[in-house]
Amino acid sequence: MNKITNHMPTAELQRLDAAHHLHPFTDHGALREKGVRVITGAEGVWLKDSEGHRILDGMAGLWCVNVGYGRDELAEAAYRQMKELPYYNTFFQTTHVPAIALSAKIAELAPGHLNHVFFASSGSEANDTNIRLVRHYWAQKGQPERQVIVARKNGYHGSSMGSASLGGMAAMHSQGGLPIPGIHHIDQPYWWGEGGEMSPEEFGIARARQLEEAIQRIGPDKVGAFIAEPVQGAGGVIVPPESYWPEIRRIVKEYGILLIADEVICGFGRTGEWFGSQGYGIEPDIMTIAKGLSSGYQPIGGSIVSDEVAETIAKDEFFHGYTYSGHPVACAVALENLRILEEEKIVERVRETTAPYLKKKWESLADHPLVGEATIRGMMASIALTPDKASRAKFASDPGTVGLICRERSFANDLVMRHVGDRMVISPPLVISQAEIDTLIERARIALDEAMEEIEAQGLM
Ligand code: PMP
Repeated sequence: MNKITNHMPTAELQRLDAAHHLHPFTDHGALREKGVRVITGAEGVWLKDSEGHRILDGMAGLWCVNVGYGRDELAEAAYRQMKELPYYNTFFQTTHVPAIALSAKIAELAPGHLNHVFFASSGSEANDTNIRLVRHYWAQKGQPERQVIVARKNGYHGSSMGSASLGGMAAMHSQGGLPIPGIHHIDQPYWWGEGGEMSPEEFGIARARQLEEAIQRIGPDKVGAFIAEPVQGAGGVIVPPESYWPEIRRIVKEYGILLIADEVICGFGRTGEWFGSQGYGIEPDIMTIAKGLSSGYQPIGGSIVSDEVAETIAKDEFFHGYTYSGHPVACAVALENLRILEEEKIVERVRETTAPYLKKKWESLADHPLVGEATIRGMMASIALTPDKASRAKFASDPGTVGLICRERSFANDLVMRHVGDRMVISPPLVISQAEIDTLIERARIALDEAMEEIEAQGLM
């Protein structure tokens, strides 16, 4: 077989891809018909494809390339570490400098008593760790019956058996016998879509109180933890009403259950703070991290746990770990990524300049006839597509039909926007410039105009 390179004709690369490559979250029949786009390179916020398009990546890959593409320092950190020590485990009374340095750095950045890191290679693995950690923690405290973890419908926590069970994605649960036992889901704080006649503040309280009702129903002596994303990302960038998190905090404290903040998207500057929890006054016992930890340059994730949790589980052996827990190359790259975020003051820049600018521009899309709400927290934002703003109406077509049309119009205009059902979402690299934000908004508006024409032509509106 000839060597497969970027210089091959696109059609040949597409043929080989269709023949051998199974993609995540993909309808392969539909994909084969359309043909995949082959991404061949990237710089800053710009992707390049095999047909020569220059595409603005409004999603930072999958919410992860926080420092942007093409940072040589990260490649050099990987190269140096591979030469020095490409791999060693941290299982049997051994450690290495990259794992020591990264865990110490994370402990310095993380709030409060969160001073200990259990490494994984992804957010899914880290959330699987969290399930076992919570249950082991309560067993060590002499309350082994505290097994149940409460999570939320339409939350996303990963794709493995455990993490997808924590997630509240109905489509995922419909395949493969999920969720596993001992996971209970409550409703999400999605005011625009589900708030009815309530004010956002009333609705935030009502949705938080579902946690209390669940604890009382299941039994306060049986519930071990509550897990949630500070802002739901993959669920459609659902920004909760301001009343939601304070009420959750009250309930978690009152019943003495552990709080897990899934910071896989919100962490490392996405919301304009180092962690999304900080902006909402959330005080978690455990945080899930991944994505922005290495800006996606290496697969790495982890669980940051409080002093009390760490001490409790340290009483005995915790029978859990991954071959690549604390992988030295991934740790070295993550450490260099954190140096860049810190030294270039990227988080401060997001908070003070970039996010306020994006907010002003993004919210201006709310005047478009297709847009029901334009909402944003830091550098993650969404718009709800609607046939009628005033009544917050949903389209009669299958959820996602209109969203997909809009995504395709966006892609055709060289902007990556994702759709979640009939919501459009963005999460660009944190280093995006104001001129690039202007381009993003211009293209988003063109995509909305073109989507509207198509929706009308198809009689969907
Ligand atoms: N938690 C959250 C909040 C996520 O957004 C994701 C990924 N989108 C995950 C966990 C799972 O991470 P991974 O895909 O790295 O397993």
